[in-house]
Amino acid sequence: MKCVHCRTAKAKRYCPAKKDEICPRCCGEHRGIEINCPLDCEYFIEGQKNHQERIDKLRIQKEGIKTYVKRAELFNNNTEIFALVERYIATSFRSNRRIDNRDLQRGLEQGCKAIETEIKGVFYEYESENSYANEISTNIMAIMKECLKRYESKGFTLETGLEIMKEYQSELMFYIENEQGSQSYLKQITRSYPEDAENPDAGRPGTEGEGGLIIT
Ligand SMILES: [Zn+2]
Repeated sequence: MKCVHCRTAKAKRYCPAKKDEICPRCCGEHRGIEINCPLDCEYFIEGQKNHQERIDKLRIQKEGIKTYVKRAELFNNNTEIFALVERYIATSFRSNRRIDNRDLQRGLEQGCKAIETEIKGVFYEYESENSYANEISTNIMAIMKECLKRYESKGFTLETGLEIMKEYQSELMFYIENEQGSQSYLKQITRSYPEDAENPDAGRPGTEGEGGLIIT
């Protein structure tokens, strides 16, 4: 039996999203991106778990356990904010599959500058030649302002937002230096934020939730 996705390789496993047999390669490459995997698919769950374990181990090896603990702390104290940022990155990659790790890198850099500027209270609009970077930066800033509205009373500050965005920058750099593929990080973030997780309409234009948070 041929794979339902590539129609060439031999199908070896059942894909619950395609409701047909798929080859391991297509399953591994396209899961959670082109293929909208149900969250209970054993290949999806195992694949994500193995990937994260491998990355964590490698990162601890290269950066040490202290950075890992610090990162885990930042994440545990700000799970909602991480979720908003990740959801935005996943949505933007699903709607524009041409952006790569470097576009995101420029966007995050620019976004961090914008937050720093806002903290200092001076107004300055950063614009680069890269339109994706501008879009990413504008949206990151919008997310930070939304987080202030929602979580300032719980202690969220732009300084924390900046720290979180710097964490994304360093994770992205780790992927650029250690993982193959020009979109490796975007793919991983997108996989960790499945389309169906919260909002079945996510990714469709004009149906963004969160009261128009995502500016396009
Ligand atoms: Zn295939």
